[in-house]
Amino acid sequence: MTPAIIGGGYAGMAAAVALAERDIPVTVFESAQQLGGRARGVVHQDTQLDNGQHLLLGCYRQTLRLIEQVGGNLEQDFLRLPLQLDLHGEFSLRAPRLPAPLHLLVALLGAQGLPLGARLNAARFMLVLRRINFMLPSPASGRGAGGKGGDMTVAELLAQHKQDAELVQKLWEPLCIAALNTPIHKASAQVLLNVLRDALNRTRADSDMLLPRVDFTALFPQRAASYVERRGGKVLISCGVEAITPKDDRIELTTAQGCMSFSHVICATSPAVAAKLLSPITKLDGALKQIEALQHQPIYTVYLRYPAHVRLPHPMIGLHRRFSQWLFDKGQIAGQHGLLAAVISAEGVHQDLSQEQLAQKVIAELREEFGIAEPPEWFKVIAEKRATFCCAPNLQRPSQQTTLPGLLLAGDYTAGGYPATLEGAVLSGLRCADLILCR
Ligand SMILES: Cc1cc2nc3c(=O)[nH]c(=O)nc-3n(C[C@H](O)[C@H](O)[C@H](O)COP(=O)(O)OP(=O)(O)OC[C@H]3O[C@@H](n4cnc5c(N)ncnc54)[C@H](O)[C@@H]3O)c2cc1C
Repeated sequence: MTPAIIGGGYAGMAAAVALAERDIPVTVFESAQQLGGRARGVVHQDTQLDNGQHLLLGCYRQTLRLIEQVGGNLEQDFLRLPLQLDLHGEFSLRAPRLPAPLHLLVALLGAQGLPLGARLNAARFMLVLRRINFMLPSPASGRGAGGKGGDMTVAELLAQHKQDAELVQKLWEPLCIAALNTPIHKASAQVLLNVLRDALNRTRADSDMLLPRVDFTALFPQRAASYVERRGGKVLISCGVEAITPKDDRIELTTAQGCMSFSHVICATSPAVAAKLLSPITKLDGALKQIEALQHQPIYTVYLRYPAHVRLPHPMIGLHRRFSQWLFDKGQIAGQHGLLAAVISAEGVHQDLSQEQLAQKVIAELREEFGIAEPPEWFKVIAEKRATFCCAPNLQRPSQQTTLPGLLLAGDYTAGGYPATLEGAVLSGLRCADLILCR
């Protein structure tokens, strides 16, 4: 068996580790100069950044397991915070150290910044979700969402359960945007429930928020590459695949260095690149149509370098009705004192601003909210216009298995219950490895 993987992001490297673990000599092709894809380390002005501030949840079990498998140490690699949602001065919810789901119910009932009625309403909604096992009823049961399968938008679900406007704005909307990177009027309620089920309903540690202390290339893909190479595999950097050609019962990959043939190929690129590579193969029309139908949502990260004494009240804090949705203090997280990151997820009016204008808005918000009067030494805006797919209700995502034997698809956009996340990407890579191993 000679498998190849196109793309050294989290999906591709997860597949590579799962195959290498069985001593299968796998070859990974990565077009960029470094591994990690959308979750990669970036250096700016001698400062280690990421291609966007990311966080993991305690329920990302496969991602966390793989990080440990390739030599990571979760205690050292992450700052682990118990579930907390803090919208500076407006809303605050902190989960006490109680077993799940009690920790959440106590947190909801004790949340500051919402009237008692709204808190009771939120807790009641969570109990209903628990009772239905976080599964929306199918239309066949007569209680589904009119004509759209069992799924509906998050906004529709919240309206059905009478979650009032303030509760939506302070709790559910920030949560949905953080989890699905999709506004509530477009987001899939079922996918949000899948995340809530895994994060809030099993063990308390599942809802912990893990903020990385190392960059995202170092955290997993780089370690995974060493793991793969120790087991006889190859990881080829700056070696993009230009074409995929089925030849008899093998698959040929063309790169600038020449052609190589493999028994199996996992295409683990972004959906846009996958569509380009698959389009000449007529057998794959069905998957191609699904990929081309995906819409995308942006994520903007504004990094700001302030003097080392500047800090935020918490390592991570949200703002209500501001451009900056979440602020991260990299000093408290990773010892990079004075480095702050503002994250703006999903579509919005911020997309009409230039990068300079957006950074100035964030600087003004930091001044007004926290009294940070001095200007930053520099700022860097990273605008990922196609950060994730738009996680709409009843979305048809392409399966990992394709109609071309030996060719598989991995990536956060492929079939699965998760939104576009590291865990979704990793799960898709593991599924591809399983499909190869079971053949
Ligand atoms: C700014 C931002 C913030 C995010 N925040 C979070 C977060 O907090 N938590 C979370 O869980 N998720 C977050 N995500 C989503 C997460 O980063 C992605 O879901 C995940 O990284 C996708 O991994 P992937 O392997 O599927 O795809 P990608 O990361 O896109 O990997 C594809 C790889 O293929 C390579 N490639 C492309 N073309 C070729 C070719 N022709 N030949 C060879 N290689 C090729 C690319 O260079 C890349 O390395 C965020 C995403 C962004 C952009």
